[in-house]
Amino acid sequence: MTPLYNQLPQQSVSGWGQYPKMESVQIAVHSKRKIRELFSETKRNGLDQYGLITRGLGRSYGDSALAEQILHTEHLNHFMQFDADSGDLTCAAGVTLADILDIFVPRGWFLPVTPGTKFVTVGGAIASDVHGKNHHLHGCFSEHVSSLKLVVASGEVMSCSPQENAPLFHATCGGMGLTGVIVEATLRLIPIASALIAESSYKTANLEETLTLFEEHDNATYSVAWIDCLATGKKLGRSLLMLGEHESREEAVKEEQSQESALQAHKNGKMNVPINMPSMLLNRYSIQAFNTLYYHKQTRTHQTRSVHYDPYFYPLDGLHNWNRLYGKNGFVQYQFVIPKSAGLVGMSRILEAITRSKRGSFLAVLKAFGPQNQNYLSFPVEGYTLALDFKISPGLFEFLDELDRIVLDCGGRLYLTKDARMSEATFKQSYPQWEVFQEVRSQYGADRLFRSRQSQRLGL
Ligand SMILES: Cc1cc2nc3c(=O)[nH]c(=O)nc-3n(C[C@H](O)[C@H](O)[C@H](O)COP(=O)(O)OP(=O)(O)OC[C@H]3O[C@@H](n4cnc5c(N)ncnc54)[C@H](O)[C@@H]3O)c2cc1C
Repeated sequence: MTPLYNQLPQQSVSGWGQYPKMESVQIAVHSKRKIRELFSETKRNGLDQYGLITRGLGRSYGDSALAEQILHTEHLNHFMQFDADSGDLTCAAGVTLADILDIFVPRGWFLPVTPGTKFVTVGGAIASDVHGKNHHLHGCFSEHVSSLKLVVASGEVMSCSPQENAPLFHATCGGMGLTGVIVEATLRLIPIASALIAESSYKTANLEETLTLFEEHDNATYSVAWIDCLATGKKLGRSLLMLGEHESREEAVKEEQSQESALQAHKNGKMNVPINMPSMLLNRYSIQAFNTLYYHKQTRTHQTRSVHYDPYFYPLDGLHNWNRLYGKNGFVQYQFVIPKSAGLVGMSRILEAITRSKRGSFLAVLKAFGPQNQNYLSFPVEGYTLALDFKISPGLFEFLDELDRIVLDCGGRLYLTKDARMSEATFKQSYPQWEVFQEVRSQYGADRLFRSRQSQRLGL
């Protein structure tokens, strides 16, 4: 195998937010054996002085999948086993959630937890321990993973589960690729009778009403609110709260008129943003206009509809490369969680700071989280999480530092898979298990081989 860093051409790479960018060599691996060879070549040639990190589809926003050497998993894309009684699926880590839906929705199965895009790999979903609109009931992705296989720095393939090599399992789920390369996983799909979701949406007048409705509907399978983050005063936090349930076959057949279409998988969207758009198109006036229109698109305070899972879970997937709308300098997604006890007051403080700054966000998505799991670096804690997109512009990072202080003050934390700029001190204060994580990493020699730009920034 070729020594890497010095011989392969470098390319400019970034995460989904197109910030930051860095020059890296790209290495595609096809098998566990190739990964093993790569590790020993890297060490033999002293290339472990450069960071090495695994990358799935690059849907993390910041720098967690960036390093001088990037190992791609796109060729680890095969299904291995499916048990049609239990829903247990074993597949390679480069399989995407879109691949799983394509094959298994028509057979009556769905993902137990899904993020807001289906273009992520199983490995990426485990490494970020992603959550969906059902975290309050069903937790994170890893809570549905019964076991995984990880190639560690020595080249050994370790089997891990909550019972076997449990510390390595809990460090790997949510561990942002810093323990090794996930090559395979077994997860449990859930049975569905239809591809449709019965959506029920409520229009709220302010944040208090939004949070009260979340509480009242805490038994709804899916819940998410879009917040108009530029509304002020008495309207602060006005939202559209959307609840969802998988439809029964009878409901779906009634809607779709036939049995076959009741379990139809998604179609691939055709719309694309071909180039980076001029970033001035997104300014506070266009964002305010969008937010007002979006809020008023629903005329009644409560309405229901039947909607395919694709627009319900993945509204942004219909427009490929939508990240280019933010222009070539990119954007950051700021996602934080604050504990329930800080709820209304804490969230109001943050929304007030955003409206004062006049830095709006098209996307301001609020979700409720259930209890924290055992993984050392998983993001969710019981409370509320809000995700906001901010175009890179002068003064943005100082403003986000100000938001960090409020989040920390409320006992909250930021999501690593969205982060591109948090300080080491903020990270270490808000992820108290980082030292246990580091101990497990060093036990497996991972700290000497796996490093991302993010891990170096955060002092890991
Ligand atoms: C539109 C959009 C909506 C989103 N909505 C949500 C949401 O609702 N909830 C949520 O939780 N997240 C959400 N995300 C974030 C996304 O789910 C995560 O960033 C996910 O990890 C991306 O997967 P990926 O395969 O693209 O991984 P990458 O972005 O390539 O990598 C992410 C991390 O995983 C590591 N990694 C990837 N593959 C492996 C592997 N095989 N072995 C070890 N480590 C690996 C990388 O090193 C990196 O640290 C969203 C992202 C987008 C763009």
